[in-house]
Amino acid sequence: MAGHLELLTHSMVSLARGRNLDTIIGSQTINSFLPLKSDLELTSYGLYAIELVDQFTAEHIEDYPLFQLLLEILHCLCRGGDNELTLRYFELHLLNEVGYRPQLQQCVSCHQALEPVTNAFCSAAGGMLCPLCSQSQPLIQPISVNTLKVLRFLQSSDYDTAAKLKMDPELSHQLEIVMRDYLKYLLEREVKSAAWLDSLRGAVLPT
Ligand SMILES: [Zn+2]
Repeated sequence: MAGHLELLTHSMVSLARGRNLDTIIGSQTINSFLPLKSDLELTSYGLYAIELVDQFTAEHIEDYPLFQLLLEILHCLCRGGDNELTLRYFELHLLNEVGYRPQLQQCVSCHQALEPVTNAFCSAAGGMLCPLCSQSQPLIQPISVNTLKVLRFLQSSDYDTAAKLKMDPELSHQLEIVMRDYLKYLLEREVKSAAWLDSLRGAVLPT
């Protein structure tokens, strides 16, 4: 049954309850996500998504919407497209599900609506700070008007709408920095697969 239980495989598994450990008595593959297993970069994207789910959830607590989101993202990665955009969409929607939705509409400190100027994201505060409130905060990321627009759009769109967005590499990089910093803050450590993604990029795409 080992093939049905590989990472990046969606399987239906039958378990016999044991006193300490359960025993797998049957399994059936629903989707083996083959494209993710035949391309190292796609493998790393898939593992990254799975690791985030693993890190943000507790064992034995069912979260069906999050499971559906994970499946959707694995399907999207298989179909191809802008994979970075897919991951940013996934991160923002995962945060919605697990209760860490970042506040992007108003300043988290003074609660004023944000002006169309360069504002800042503060991971410790869980959202955006206006220029005045961000002056007293050392650990912030400046956020351009355009980056904020895209973050809001990804946070509130379904995947098909979000996937129509065209991002240039600079914008894509900005989004990755903001999300990586926030996730790292929340998890209080580097996401292992993200570090792997970086080392893979260094090996495959030297910059
Ligand atoms: Zn403020």
